[in-house]
Amino acid sequence: MTHAVVVSITVLLLIVVQSAMYNAIGFICSIVAVFCDGGLLRLADALLLNDNVRIVMLTVSDVIAFLESFAPPALAEEWDNVGLLLGRKDSTVSSIMTCLTLTPDVAAEAVESGVDLIVSHHPVLFRGTKKITDSSNEGRMLLQLLENRIAVYSPHTSFDSAAGGVNRQLCDRFGIQNVRPMLPLENDETVGGGRYGNLKNSVTLREFLATVSVAVNADYVEYCGDLDSVVANVGVACGAASDFLKDAVRLNCDTFVTGEARFHAALEARGQRLNMILLGHYSSERPAIESLVASLSLTFSEATVFASVREADPLAVFRI
Ligand SMILES: [Zn+2]
Repeated sequence: MTHAVVVSITVLLLIVVQSAMYNAIGFICSIVAVFCDGGLLRLADALLLNDNVRIVMLTVSDVIAFLESFAPPALAEEWDNVGLLLGRKDSTVSSIMTCLTLTPDVAAEAVESGVDLIVSHHPVLFRGTKKITDSSNEGRMLLQLLENRIAVYSPHTSFDSAAGGVNRQLCDRFGIQNVRPMLPLENDETVGGGRYGNLKNSVTLREFLATVSVAVNADYVEYCGDLDSVVANVGVACGAASDFLKDAVRLNCDTFVTGEARFHAALEARGQRLNMILLGHYSSERPAIESLVASLSLTFSEATVFASVREADPLAVFRI
């Protein structure tokens, strides 16, 4: 091999090695540049982009899916009107308000607070509505909600009867154990209308009245029965549910708790020697609407969730 050939091969080898080094140095420099330029943060942002998009795009449909997972519409009474009653499923949601009943006051609060979705326990459009105009209170309220793109969802009797629904929550607040539905569904005995169970330690009606009043934050409750009688087995049905009175008797309850009842239902309870406690319709259901806020907040942490503060019991007591 001549000296010229050896020199040529050496130069070629040097060029190849140098090129590889430049490539390696270039690669390292580009990595450093990405770090130095905040590129890594942008890369992380890009990887998380999908999650961010999902959070921003929370829709009415997402909230409905959650609500119907614990209060399935199949649990609603036949005569009821539950579900999404106003608005679009694909509307985005950043603020949710719960209430017991949608009244003009509550609707105005929703508008002023920038709410996107109202979860109202009692349904709107309950009766066969033929027109929605500004000639009625309800019409004006519905138009106001529509114009402000506020959707309304009502779970009503499906929420009453659900496994963790209004009646079950009342039983828990009253310290009732071994809780079962008074009217269980045929295919699932854990859900259904009303609830009943027993107290761990029996108390007098006088003591139990104090317990339930505090439990639902009621200013007053009505009752019929002997204040010194024993309360051990209790039936519960929220709202206007004196229809369950006969079921409380059938299930050997000594006490039946509901929201409101007519005079003749009280006479019937007295005739059956059944204590009956009327919490007030509002007091029997409003606490569950407040606890729904906690569930919604936990599930949709990206949304603002609150219970209407303007809503109040329309009834009051006057004493001389
Ligand atoms: Zn009700």
